Amino acid sequence: MSEKRTPLMAANWKMHKTLAETKEFFNSFLPKVENLDDRDILIAPPFTALALSKKLTESSSVILCAQNMHWEEKGAFTGEISPLMIKEIGINWVILGHSERRHIFGENNEVIAAKVSSALAHEINPILCIGEKLEERELGQTEDVLKVQLESVFGTLSQELAKKMTIAYEPVWAIGTGKTATPDIAQQAHAFIRSWLSNWFDSSIAQKVRILYGGSVKPENVESLMAQPDIDGVLVGGASLDPEKFSRIAGCKIIN
Ligand code: PEP
Repeated sequence: MSEKRTPLMAANWKMHKTLAETKEFFNSFLPKVENLDDRDILIAPPFTALALSKKLTESSSVILCAQNMHWEEKGAFTGEISPLMIKEIGINWVILGHSERRHIFGENNEVIAAKVSSALAHEINPILCIGEKLEERELGQTEDVLKVQLESVFGTLSQELAKKMTIAYEPVWAIGTGKTATPDIAQQAHAFIRSWLSNWFDSSIAQKVRILYGGSVKPENVESLMAQPDIDGVLVGGASLDPEKFSRIAGCKIIN
């Protein structure tokens, strides 16, 4: 039986926005999304703008999220941010395993699994990004890649913890390239992920976990993506930097 999942419209600012730009964004964005109470809206600013963003959004329902974290609470890890540091400024969400972390900074599935376990142990909700590269899709390996990425993380989790996860399916060939997966291609991957969760755990877990689509989402394509039965939200990079565009994405018509 399928369960109603609250849509999650998420922004990943990556390495963008100074404090002045962050203030300018929220001044323009917040009034545009004031009455959207049938969905969750989440924004992941860079670490330096998290505390200010928290202050600027305190009278709104916008959720704030870190873009990464280390798995240890403290130590000799120059340049890293710990779960305790994130929690201390009131942040309970983190993006983990983004393809830029995997492919530019060399994070492998074991590192990502350690980060996910640590986030959950600190009651921080992870958004786990998974997705295949273009050559893997062309070789027909998409499902195998997703399976390995899912198993390396969910294989370490109990059912109770698995329920707290959010997954973002982000085909690497669609990130920042302007090439969006068609709604059919995205739905196929999302349905595969949900059926994998159902086989690994059971259908109650599979029905609970939200699966977001990410990869060149824009105001013009968001509604057809959101109309797919297994797409529960979006994770948006480039188009989330503009308050006008991201408010149109976050406020899009959702029919299912
Ligand atoms: C992302 O960074 O997660 C992403 C999907 O980027 P873009 O929307 O720019 O493709």
